[in-house]
Amino acid sequence: MSKKLFIKTWGCQMNVYDSARMADVLAPLGYRPVDEPDGADMVILNTCHIREKAADKVFSELGRLRILKDEKAEAQDGKMILAVAGCVAQAEGEEIVARAPYVDMVFGPQTYHTLPEMVAKASRAAGSVLNTDFPAESKFDFLPEEATSQGVSAFLAVQEGCDKFCTFCVVPYTRGSEFSRPADQILVEAKRLVAGGTREISLLGQNVNAWHGDGPDGSTWGLGRLIRELAEIDGLARIRYTTSHPRDMDDELIRAHADVPQLMPYLHLPVQSGSDRILAAMNRKHSADDYRRLVDRLRGVNPDLALSSDFIVGFPGESDADFAATLKLVTEVGYAQSYCFKYSPRPGTPAALESAQVPEDVKEARLQALQQLIGAQQVAFNQGFVGRTMPILFDRKGRRPGQLLGRSPWMQSVHAEANERLLNSIVEVRIDDARPNSLAGSVVTGDYASTAHNPVHALEARA
Ligand code: SAM
Ligand code: SF4
Repeated sequence: MSKKLFIKTWGCQMNVYDSARMADVLAPLGYRPVDEPDGADMVILNTCHIREKAADKVFSELGRLRILKDEKAEAQDGKMILAVAGCVAQAEGEEIVARAPYVDMVFGPQTYHTLPEMVAKASRAAGSVLNTDFPAESKFDFLPEEATSQGVSAFLAVQEGCDKFCTFCVVPYTRGSEFSRPADQILVEAKRLVAGGTREISLLGQNVNAWHGDGPDGSTWGLGRLIRELAEIDGLARIRYTTSHPRDMDDELIRAHADVPQLMPYLHLPVQSGSDRILAAMNRKHSADDYRRLVDRLRGVNPDLALSSDFIVGFPGESDADFAATLKLVTEVGYAQSYCFKYSPRPGTPAALESAQVPEDVKEARLQALQQLIGAQQVAFNQGFVGRTMPILFDRKGRRPGQLLGRSPWMQSVHAEANERLLNSIVEVRIDDARPNSLAGSVVTGDYASTAHNPVHALEARA
């Protein structure tokens, strides 16, 4: 009999990928994903520890779930297995077990391939099963094939962990050291995804461009070479990768942006700050000028390339002059969009121990100023597309009936009136209107409302 599995995911795309793989691991045990936790046989909270309040959110969610768990037990409707996974589990596993003993399983990002054993233990015994090891074996060698199609746009983890140790960041502690999956394993998974209907693959890693592996020819491949091989897969129309570290952008990867048409012209390349003093204190291992030069090289090979970045404001010791250097860098580079964060001291990281913490009101003012500048750049970037026609991968229904929603090559969200049969296809759309966070367009040819024939293939050929 099928059992109900509810997974709530916080944080990065890697967590979204991990949640899908947890569902794959649990599928042979009869678990099927559901959209609500009420009455579920298992609830997994897949957590993020990157900024503060993460643990607070987990504990308040657990409080609500405990009520559902008790109701299920009272109704004699079986046991709800309650689990906390991800980076909060890795960092604060013992505290979770102590504060919320009704939680049945607590496990980190590297051990979810052992879920069947953990479930067996949790079903038998009272008390929590805690598994926050960094096992010697790679979970990827044990994960089953995807239980269901991953959709037209899918994530594929190629690299995990981080050895960079930026002084603000918990990732090296929660995800462990850098690990690259073997090339042949990635190629097999990619081919399987495409055979299941995927047209766009986003390669994932905490430092995705640090990926390296032995190719089938015995030589060591970098990410650029891997992308070239993936581009050979028939039916794979779009390739993306995230998140990159500026230090790991090598020549081959830069060249791929020039001559691999499937590689989308959008790159998330976090710089964090425009001040060399702050970049050094962050242990980023690159200067602001290194970053400018890198951007110039990338735009030199592909003038169409759009960039996004992450920024931290209010890092310990950040002065007005340091922050002005960040605004200057942003003005010079010009971003299609970006993520701006107030520095959040993370337990166990070196920056959290710095005495020169920046007051909250200063952080807030800097955040507003940076967001305003980046917001204006985003509006200008989007406005530049009005009147242009571009290929859109429709991957969802829109909010209004008759509307589809998709992504442009530059990651913009685009909606258009379109026949539902165009869902999961790449279609030429003319952009009619630009808003800060989305574009509105019209499908360029044909009357799709009543077409008996499907013009998608012809359009895809042009995409
Ligand atoms: N590996 C990526 C890189 O090097 O840029 C990013 C990984 S992290 C999951 C995503 C973003 O969270 C970082 O780029 C950084 O801007 C932000 N972040 C990480 N730790 C933070 C902290 N303690 N406070 C505020 N933002 C933080
Ligand atoms: Fe965190 Fe820095 Fe590693 Fe990115 S490179 S995951 S910010 S330690």
